[in-house]
Amino acid sequence: MSKILEIKNLSVSYGGIEAIKNISLDVEAGSIVTLIGSNGAGKSTALNAVTQGVPYTGRISLEGRDIRALKGAERARSVGFLAQKNAVSYAYSVEEVVSLGRYAHASGFLSARDDEGEACVERALEWTGLTALRRASVLTLSGGELQRTFLAQVFAQNPKLLILDEPANHLDLIYQKHIFSLIEAWLKQPGRAVISVVHDLSLAKKYGTHTVLMDRGRCAAQGRTNEVMTRERLEAVYGMDVYGWMRDLLGQWA
Ligand code: ATP
Repeated sequence: MSKILEIKNLSVSYGGIEAIKNISLDVEAGSIVTLIGSNGAGKSTALNAVTQGVPYTGRISLEGRDIRALKGAERARSVGFLAQKNAVSYAYSVEEVVSLGRYAHASGFLSARDDEGEACVERALEWTGLTALRRASVLTLSGGELQRTFLAQVFAQNPKLLILDEPANHLDLIYQKHIFSLIEAWLKQPGRAVISVVHDLSLAKKYGTHTVLMDRGRCAAQGRTNEVMTRERLEAVYGMDVYGWMRDLLGQWA
């Protein structure tokens, strides 16, 4: 197995308050690592460190190279980030927004759409079911369609590491299922990996191969999802019987 991302002794402070305390983590090719834990545990901050959005101490490496040493375009070719909410304020078409994913691959300004780029954009539109909407203005899309548009943009970017912050947040059930199925399908190509914050523990359990359980900036447990998401560990972090609650909820549908 090849290591796509390696985080070693990561700490992040905001104005002297430590939001992340000494976290280490490996993300292997073919895995979906979910970050779970209660509000304020430091999940988004960990992702922001990987995307170089916050100052940190420790080392973050992408395929063995310190991520800080990579040039912006090089990093952008390797790392795709899908934020929780993507604001749009201009009437770009779906295709234009998806094509922006190719800019990190362009040899110069205005040369983003070479043949390979065209093919990547077409494939991304097709995969996400957006071909028919390609000329629609993004201002007219539903929340689910807009999220799929930004997912298509990161697919077109063709990264090795996909970083997701609550990719299915605010989406209808059908879109939640769709987004995670697309991500699983994307991961089937060799040399790719996903790291994602997931609040919905049922989704984290179903789609995660590995899980990091965070608690007030620290890593309470990490490893294979079924070994981390045990009744005892979840109860210790969330302060309630998560298993009992989930079963109770699901029992209503029996
Ligand atoms: P949630 O589940 O609520 O999204 P989280 O686990 O993603 O939370 P973070 O957003 O990483 O947690 O926040 C971790 C801690 O850092 C919190 O106490 C938060 O208030 C604080 N924090 C986050 N961003 C900043 C910032 N830009 N400036 C100051 N403090 C911040």
